[in-house]
Amino acid sequence: MIHERSHCRTCGSKNLTLILDLGKTALANDFLTPEEAPSYKISLPLRVVLCRDCSLVQLADTVDPKVLYSRYAYITSTSKTMDAHLSEQAAHLLQTGNLGKGAKVLEIASNTGVFLKKFKERGCEVLGVEPAANIASVARERGIRTEVCFHGRDTAARIAAQYGKADLVAGNNVLAHVPDINDFVGGMKILLKPGGVITMEFPHLMRLIDENQWDTIYHEHFSYFSLIAVEKIFAAHGLTLFDVDELPTHGGSLRIYARHAENSSRPISQRCRPSGGHTCLISRPGRRQKSPASKPKGQFLLGSRSPRTAG
Ligand SMILES: [Zn+2]
Repeated sequence: MIHERSHCRTCGSKNLTLILDLGKTALANDFLTPEEAPSYKISLPLRVVLCRDCSLVQLADTVDPKVLYSRYAYITSTSKTMDAHLSEQAAHLLQTGNLGKGAKVLEIASNTGVFLKKFKERGCEVLGVEPAANIASVARERGIRTEVCFHGRDTAARIAAQYGKADLVAGNNVLAHVPDINDFVGGMKILLKPGGVITMEFPHLMRLIDENQWDTIYHEHFSYFSLIAVEKIFAAHGLTLFDVDELPTHGGSLRIYARHAENSSRPISQRCRPSGGHTCLISRPGRRQKSPASKPKGQFLLGSRSPRTAG
């Protein structure tokens, strides 16, 4: 059910340092009936390690995904606030990607298709990739074409052959849940047109540290991303980050924009060039950390390497 990692899940380094031990816990989304509760016995270690070589913060103990997702029931919110957020994001992405009518937009972990619907309404050709068949069927009923499969290099090659490559490949709040990040990002590279744009939204490690968001650490979240760690993962797959936005969602998130490394038509924004360079373990685009009082928390979490934020 659970195994301890001896090496980093992206770069393979064994140079892992324990930075936080939350003891043993139940699975966060294992909702039980009153009848099931007395016999519930799952109590698993929850420890966080830092890879000293690629800066990826990740869980030391990995629960079998079949156990984690056997009861998975998360449906993308359709609240007015989230609906407005998605509309705004879609308009922004169409502008950033310079996409017109008929552009191909593919979303990984597309859930019930609420994000893709925004692009379809603007005349784009959309395709969702969603592993949960019951959730994908809801998307299809809403008119969103959806493939039921886990995303990776093999399925990406099949989808690219069947539907063609995409102008925009999106992945929102999925990266932390991915056991094999190299297969996942390598698959995104396969799906992207030569001039296309990848965009991903994920909770920002810096906000987790700044605000002590320890409750966002649980077994479903295998990894916790800084801008620098993501930049390294994408670079290893021939993809270059060219811009980044800070978002208020999920306690503070980043939205990154990537392109093929050889596509020099999109210049790299200054926001993707943290002044601390790769000597710092975490970075934030734009501005310096707001509260000096929160700095010791970051130092506690990241150990003795004098982590500092990019200004
Ligand atoms: Zn690593």
